[in-house]
Amino acid sequence: MQKGNIGVTTENIFPIIKKFLYSDHEIFLREALSNAVDATQKLKALARRGEFEGEMGDTTIRISNDAEKKIITISDRGIGMTAEEVDKYINQIAFSSANEFLDKYKDDVQSIIGHFGLGFYSLFMVSEKVEIYTKSYKDDARGVHWSCEGSPEYQLEEYDKKERGTDIVIHLDEESKEFAEETKINELLEKYAKFLPVPVAFGKEQEWKEDKMVDTDKDKIINNPEPAWTKKPADLEEKDYKDFYKELYPMGEDPLFHIHLNVDYPFNLTGILYFPKIRNNIEIQKNKIQLYCNQVFVTDSVEGIVPEFLTLLHGVIDSPDIPLNVSRSYLQSDSNVKKISSHITKKVADRLNDIFKEDRKQFEEKWDDLKIFIQYGMLTDEKFAERAKNFVLLKNTDGKYFTFDEYKELIKEDQTDKDKKLVHLYTTNKTEQYTFIEEAKSKGYDVLEMDGQLDVHFVNKLETDLEDASFKRVDADVLDKLIEKEVSKESKLSDEQQNNLVPVFRGRLPEDGSYIVSVENLDEDALPVMITQSEFMRRMKDMSEMQGGMNM
Ligand code: ADP
Ligand code: MG
Repeated sequence: MQKGNIGVTTENIFPIIKKFLYSDHEIFLREALSNAVDATQKLKALARRGEFEGEMGDTTIRISNDAEKKIITISDRGIGMTAEEVDKYINQIAFSSANEFLDKYKDDVQSIIGHFGLGFYSLFMVSEKVEIYTKSYKDDARGVHWSCEGSPEYQLEEYDKKERGTDIVIHLDEESKEFAEETKINELLEKYAKFLPVPVAFGKEQEWKEDKMVDTDKDKIINNPEPAWTKKPADLEEKDYKDFYKELYPMGEDPLFHIHLNVDYPFNLTGILYFPKIRNNIEIQKNKIQLYCNQVFVTDSVEGIVPEFLTLLHGVIDSPDIPLNVSRSYLQSDSNVKKISSHITKKVADRLNDIFKEDRKQFEEKWDDLKIFIQYGMLTDEKFAERAKNFVLLKNTDGKYFTFDEYKELIKEDQTDKDKKLVHLYTTNKTEQYTFIEEAKSKGYDVLEMDGQLDVHFVNKLETDLEDASFKRVDADVLDKLIEKEVSKESKLSDEQQNNLVPVFRGRLPEDGSYIVSVENLDEDALPVMITQSEFMRRMKDMSEMQGGMNM
């Protein structure tokens, strides 16, 4: 038997690990599983290259637990390790890299997000003892048993292991014992292991027998090793994308569109993003995108990693170039991650442009739901805004949709105001501003509908971006400045009738002077009396509403 001291020079880092990385202890399971997956994939790669000719056998990774004894065991049938490899990869590399990592980030602990993990080392966040039973795939390999009790001392001895592969036995400490409970393990597997690329078994399939659910002797596979994003877009149909969405968000409504990302140069990236359908008045949920590294879940908090507006989308991004074992601040400044980000933005814009060109009808049908994403993107990301100019739509009060260019074409002839300035009229509330809209229309002007959550901000942006165009909300002041085009309006009411009407309405309104009652020169389909709220009063009202603010 070999005994030794793990190469930790400055201090015993076990207590530090426990202290510093307390936020997300649960990632230990992901780290152990991802090592089991790596070991299995490595063996498969060797087999493909003809360097392993033995029997592959069943490579399912198995998890077992003993809640009473506070033990979790993870067994794989991957490449295994020889005694020398355990010494090298576990005693030296895993431990010293963890040490370096901690040294580097000691002053920056807050930014080490627990879920980015520290590989094998993370196991010590939750255990009082970790054991490795392993046997390498190599022909003459002997089994090895390594154990370490959360101090720099370890033991390494020969062990008569029959099967190739590795069992990691985690003896949880008192504080962490709940991780050995079946429900807790299932919860963690659902979060971290759902799409691991190798089958993972935990527990047994169940079936109904005499009114009861009972275990069968069939292992329960808890993951889908071939999720949609790992397949070629050509092999998938619309339905597969919807099914995958359901797999990710079982309670969600069908998404509006999907975007399948599939890049292999200059970096590797796969994934499927969805424009979710937001139910009326429900806030958009941010951070629904899940970030994976080779099908291992990293985080679903992608803020700061992808452009702001993409955090409104749903779906999965998977890239081996997004490193697992780093801190969040590192990820944010990583140049690969930045490239990935801008690439995704471009892809999203391209895909929208394609749908717009190929199926404008569908695009228009979904526009009302899609609009908030595109506007948000344009408001927060200049590059996206540049691309989106081609397909962002404006909708008028007749329910017709236009691109910028089309709209410009439509109004350029006769939509200037008395100052000869091209004016875009819009309404923020079709019902409240009905009379203004009608009047503008009767003067031959088109009115846009801008009643969305972001429309006010969007209009501001358009005014800045589009030269020589102004946007005006239809109200009395604005209407005054419009050029009357058809002057064929004669009231159907006599002068006397008109004079009698006004007091009837005025008597019912507050007497603070904020409302003006007038009987207009009317055309046939307009109403005989117009009540106008003064622009000043309206602004005051808007301002008090603004206190509630935009909330997303
Ligand atoms: P990483 O996975 O990033 O290489 P880890 O700290 O998770 O770092 O693991 C360190 C090393 O220990 C691995 O690179 C691998 O060589 C070895 N190892 C860990 N778990 C296993 C396993 N189940 N089977 C074979 N080798 C393993
Ligand atoms: Mg690892």
